[in-house]
Amino acid sequence: MKTIGLLGGMSWESTQSYYRALNEGIKTGLGGLHSAKIALYSVDFAEIETLQHQGEWDKTADILGNAALSVQHAGADFLLICTNTMHKVAPQIQARIDIPVLHIADATANVLIADGITRVGLLGTRFTMEQDFYKARLQAQGIDVLIPNEDDRTTIHDVIYSELCLGVINNTSKQRFLDIVSRLAASGAQAIILGCTEIALLIQQQDTDVPLYDTTAIHARQAIAVALNKTPLPDRIGAD
Ligand code: GLU
Repeated sequence: MKTIGLLGGMSWESTQSYYRALNEGIKTGLGGLHSAKIALYSVDFAEIETLQHQGEWDKTADILGNAALSVQHAGADFLLICTNTMHKVAPQIQARIDIPVLHIADATANVLIADGITRVGLLGTRFTMEQDFYKARLQAQGIDVLIPNEDDRTTIHDVIYSELCLGVINNTSKQRFLDIVSRLAASGAQAIILGCTEIALLIQQQDTDVPLYDTTAIHARQAIAVALNKTPLPDRIGAD
């Protein structure tokens, strides 16, 4: 079994989801007392969040690049960055290490393509919804990406940072997210990407008929397949 490297803590609420999903997947795959081999570096999210909102992405890349190097030294065979947003600096993190980064948008695109989905709605932080680092990777695979309107993007961004990353699950916010999902579906989205690793803590498939693609679960599933040698180790990601 390969050792899975994790850059976590962004937020730790979703790192818990990764930790559980990876261990459950390995247990299902190998049975008995088997559990995932994991090297985790968990950062202080307050530092990262401040730098994000100041636009100091190079500084976040430095912090995460150093953390990634520690994970590599700890014996990881490949790396997951346990947040969609921080894939903005995935090429810079990859440049610091020899082991491959398993890109969350590529993992998601592969599943969407396999399911025949060509038009998706994307929920995530403002950075993920509005900037190109994430959407462009989906579009490069022929997937059309719809994002919520300005008001809805504000709602989603605020709920992620003021509630979900703090472990707060609020019913009003849940209903607002489900309304946004319905609006995107009415605009032609065949499915919705939960493109923030905490969103599945708020809405789940049983809440809506619109197909939801949870990036945390998809990323973890791909990592399990790689760790169990069912899928080859991916190539290192290139500079965007
Ligand atoms: N975990 C979130 C994501 O997947 C947001 C937290 C962050 O900004 O990293 O984008």
